[in-house]
Parts: sequence; structure tokens; C-alpha cells
Amino acid sequence: MRDVSKFLSGFKRFQQHYLGERHALFDRLLAEGQRPRALMIACCDSRCDPALLTDCDPGDMFVVRNVANLVPPYDRARLFAATSSAMAFAISNLEVEHVIIMGHARCGGIRALMEHKPPQSDEEKLIAQWIGIAESARLRVQEELPGKPEEVQCRACEQAAILVSLENLLSYPWISKRVDQGKLALHGWYFDMTSGELLQYQPAKGGFEVLVANAHVAARSLAANINPADAV
Ligand SMILES: [Zn+2]
Repeated sequence: MRDVSKFLSGFKRFQQHYLGERHALFDRLLAEGQRPRALMIACCDSRCDPALLTDCDPGDMFVVRNVANLVPPYDRARLFAATSSAMAFAISNLEVEHVIIMGHARCGGIRALMEHKPPQSDEEKLIAQWIGIAESARLRVQEELPGKPEEVQCRACEQAAILVSLENLLSYPWISKRVDQGKLALHGWYFDMTSGELLQYQPAKGGFEVLVANAHVAARSLAANINPADAV
């Protein structure tokens, strides 16, 4: 079994940075309370930590993580209260100005949804009930991309599920009211960990477009194209 010493040395670095060098930020957060500007709903996947991906400071972002970054619809909010109650606190109490649904490539939850196997155990039933929130995304992909490779279908479903969650957000009266009043903006993001890019749903275009390109890949490609004769 691997130990947890890596996390303890990491916590020491956190102390040094935020409680030492930058203690003023934490002092202010303790004195004034948190006032995050955004609620991020992200997947539990260990490769998609919102704070790491966005390089935020403590206090910047209120984060809810669940399998496949799903938002239950309003009529099932009580059944899935862990997510809906956190949304209520962030939106009604903390008055965040943005809600970001962040999906990602290679999502195990979405893959399980697409595989659509009958659950065999208690654990599988729990997962199936949860990811069933995005069932309409699976049906849409099956209808629009029949017979396509699994990778293509999963990617399409990962993105379609983000749209389901955005729609579900608007089914909550206290969310749609704030959106109508211009007090709250909703965003659909997709972390493509295969390309290192961040994509955003563009409602006007009906699809996802690159929001932040991967400059490192571009630089490597450029370097690879350099004529060896020109290399120093
Ligand atoms: Zn995931």
C-alpha cells in the first residue's frame, strides 16, 4: 500500500506559501469570510482538480465534485441532495456570479453510462442511478453517432452530458431567476486532457470550441518542424 507522506509534505508547502509568505490573503479570508466568484461542478477524476487546473487561490472558487460532473434536475434535487444543496449554498448564500460545469476527456463515469451494462452489485447500482442523470445524453449520441468508434461516442457523450447539466441548472427556479436578472452566468467547459486544451460550449454555434489552446504542444510541434540544418 502506498503511504500518504506525499500529501503531508504538500500540506507543509501549502502552509509555507499561504500561511507564511501570503498570510495576508488567508487573514482576509478568515476575517471577511469566503466570497468565491464561481461555483465549479467538476468530476471526481483525480486528473481534473479544478484548483490545480485553474491555478486558483483559496477563496476563489467553490467546488462541487461528483462522478461525471452532473447536475440533477430540479424534480430530483432531493434524491441527489449532496450536489443540489451545495449548489443552493453557493448560489443563494454566497451569491457566486458564475457556475461552470467542467467535463473532461476519458471520463470513466461517462464511459460507464455509454456501456449501459445492467448493474450487478450494490456499488454498480449506486453508480448507475447517479450517471442515469445523463441518460438523455447517451440516447442522443446513440441516435446521432450510431456505429461510431467507442472513443468518438464517449467524447460526444462527455460533451452532451455537460449540456444536460447546463439545462438541468436552469430547471431550478432560483437559478433561472438569477440568470434572467443577469446576476449569474452559466458556462460549459471541457478539459481535453488528450490535447491539453480547455474547450468551452458556444451556444450560438451549438458546439465546443477551444478557449485555451495548449501552447506547449504548439511549441513542440514548431520545434519538431525546424530544419535540422538550421538547428544551433
Ligand atoms: Zn470524469
